[in-house]
Amino acid sequence: MNKIKGITVMAAFALCIGYAHSESQTPIRLVIHGGAGTITKDTITPEQEKQYREKLTDALNAGYAVLNSGGSSLDAVQRAINVMEDSPLFNAGKGAVFTHDGKNELDAAIMDGKTKMAGAVAGVTTIKNPINAAYAVMTKSPHVLMISNGAELFAKEQGLVMVEPAYFKTDFRWQQLQNALKDEKITLDHNGKSASLLLPPKNYDYKYGTVGAVALDKDGNLAAGTSTGGMTNKRYGRVGDSPIIGAGTYADNNTVAVSATGTGEMFIRTSTAYNIAAQVKYKNTPLKEAAQNALDEVKNINGSGGVIVLDKNGNYTMSFNTEGMYRGTIGNDGKAIVSIYEQ
Ligand code: ASP
Repeated sequence: MNKIKGITVMAAFALCIGYAHSESQTPIRLVIHGGAGTITKDTITPEQEKQYREKLTDALNAGYAVLNSGGSSLDAVQRAINVMEDSPLFNAGKGAVFTHDGKNELDAAIMDGKTKMAGAVAGVTTIKNPINAAYAVMTKSPHVLMISNGAELFAKEQGLVMVEPAYFKTDFRWQQLQNALKDEKITLDHNGKSASLLLPPKNYDYKYGTVGAVALDKDGNLAAGTSTGGMTNKRYGRVGDSPIIGAGTYADNNTVAVSATGTGEMFIRTSTAYNIAAQVKYKNTPLKEAAQNALDEVKNINGSGGVIVLDKNGNYTMSFNTEGMYRGTIGNDGKAIVSIYEQ
């Protein structure tokens, strides 16, 4: 009897060890951002702060549900980004900023860290969730980047949800465009002052509302995605860093998954996302340091913004050189952590 009891206790102990072991072998993690910029207690009301916190938590929980049920990092990234695209709070999907011509032109990209396959769309106006179109480009075509009408035709053929361009419109963003038009400026902001695109901004008040997610699933696969409306008052078919692989979005299982937000032109010019991956790849630089180095390069050419970075061990950083960044993370314990200001 005692012997049987002993065996039972040992078996239970072994099971516990086994469970703890497999848990430590298979970390799952999701990290998201909803844009960076001049985000301080003075620039948003307590009510707005509450709304942002709730929506970021919803996005984290949506992605976590995928990861926790054994789903892929690619699916988790899409689900989390869909929640933010569908919310008017962020400059992505519904609530995107307006172009000079009063349109919403959306960009998005997704990348699979396992295969290094990537997909992106730019300048689309009728695809409800551009990140899903980016995924379709990656999985259903031999291409990486599709733009404008062609991307829309493809998305329609793939059965994605299409909407009237008016779906994306919000009064708040429309007013921002009117203010920018008055100033004759191109704004990177979603409610601050404007800046000239030709003379890059210095010390002005802005917020970037782009959204992004990076995830690690139980199989150890990384994925990254970014979705944006770009910049208020943009024209001439301007495309930022978000849909450019290696600039605003990148994922490689051997290094990191990255999604960026900020002054797109400077992120393109310094290949921010790949810059971080390359530091990890060639020098094994710790993530926080790699992110800081890349953001310093952006700053050196008068840019600013932030990045979320995640590696295959579940290490992550949410770094920015602005006053704040809407951001959050969730891991195996299922507890969503959301932050906004510098801490
Ligand atoms: N990076 C985006 C762009 O330049 C803007 C943003 O992050 O809000 O299009």
